[in-house]
Amino acid sequence: MSQKIPLIDVHAQNRPLQEEMLTAMRGVLESGAFILGPEVKAFEDEFRAYTKVPHAIACASGSDALLLPLMAANIAEGDEVLVPSFTFYATAGAVARLGGTPVFVDSDDTCNISLVDLEKKITPRTKALIPVHLFGQMVDMDAVMKIARAKNLLVIEDCAQSIGAEFRGKQCGAFGDYGAFSFYPTKNLGAIGDAGMVSAADTQKAELMNMIRVHGSKQRYYHELVGTNSRLDSLQAAVLRIKLRHLRQYEQGRERVAALYTRLFKNAGLSEEIRLPVVGPERKHVWNQYTVRAKKRDALRAHLGGLGIGSEIYYPLAMHKQAAFQKYLSKPVSLPVCEALEQEVLSLPMYPELADAQVERVVEAVRGFFRGK
Ligand SMILES: *Cc1c(COP(=O)(O)O)cnc(C)c1O
Repeated sequence: MSQKIPLIDVHAQNRPLQEEMLTAMRGVLESGAFILGPEVKAFEDEFRAYTKVPHAIACASGSDALLLPLMAANIAEGDEVLVPSFTFYATAGAVARLGGTPVFVDSDDTCNISLVDLEKKITPRTKALIPVHLFGQMVDMDAVMKIARAKNLLVIEDCAQSIGAEFRGKQCGAFGDYGAFSFYPTKNLGAIGDAGMVSAADTQKAELMNMIRVHGSKQRYYHELVGTNSRLDSLQAAVLRIKLRHLRQYEQGRERVAALYTRLFKNAGLSEEIRLPVVGPERKHVWNQYTVRAKKRDALRAHLGGLGIGSEIYYPLAMHKQAAFQKYLSKPVSLPVCEALEQEVLSLPMYPELADAQVERVVEAVRGFFRGK
């Protein structure tokens, strides 16, 4: 049997940098500065230069990067926060953890939040919006900000899957009041553990983030507000600094793989069976996932698995149907696009080092499923 093609391969990316990373890690070990410290400061500066966000404050994870801005805004019981239902749990989980009510919004054909449904779900209790730039593609943030400013709502961009993505030439995290980034190992910029970053639109918000991540204090042992412990390890920062220097090249690899999938699928004549990712206008997509919509999705996935080809269903159950969130629904909600997506989506192998021949094998395997050999 030919070699397996995994969904993602973190080794392909980390192996060539291993010696450099080990040297940097030894530097941290010898410095004795393990938490925050100079490596974290340098990473924040380099991240800011790359993304062009106004302020960048490192924290412990992408989930915390969503939580800290909601804490700063005092989101609590009775407050509604609009989130897409078709996303990773953390987007809605952050709201619920603070006692707020996540209000679930349907998606559009790009798999991102539907702005039509978003506007319908605003009530006098709505305090904030969390648009998610899913799979590496940005939401129309000009439209989101217009809606939010008209109603005086806080905007936190969930950029966990989309570092480097652009809308109208501007990167994600630079539009909203805050942006939440994740460096979970499989994200486009992956650490070797948990790590996150909050972007903030102005110095006051940046200052709040700086305090909330260290138990609400500016000066040690003097606490001005209630925060939490969400600091970044120096070890993670040291590794991320090295990988950030290669992010542009990783993006180009992902772009090559995505363009090849799209071209090969079009040539395969599967437009009835496979819907390719829809890229909205004026976007730079960074392809954290290449997600198609397929008929007979589960059988297709099993067929690919049998041929040693990895795939994943992001996401099999939308958030408005999750057991954990039922108590936030005053009446049953129906979100038809989300409900179609959870039945049809399939994410195919996607990482920068994927070879053209491997992409060809994946498309051939999909063609074989629908058309036979
Ligand atoms: C990964 C992810 C998060 C959470 O990031 P962690 O670093 O794993 O906590 C939040 N939102 C989305 C959309 C994600 O994909």
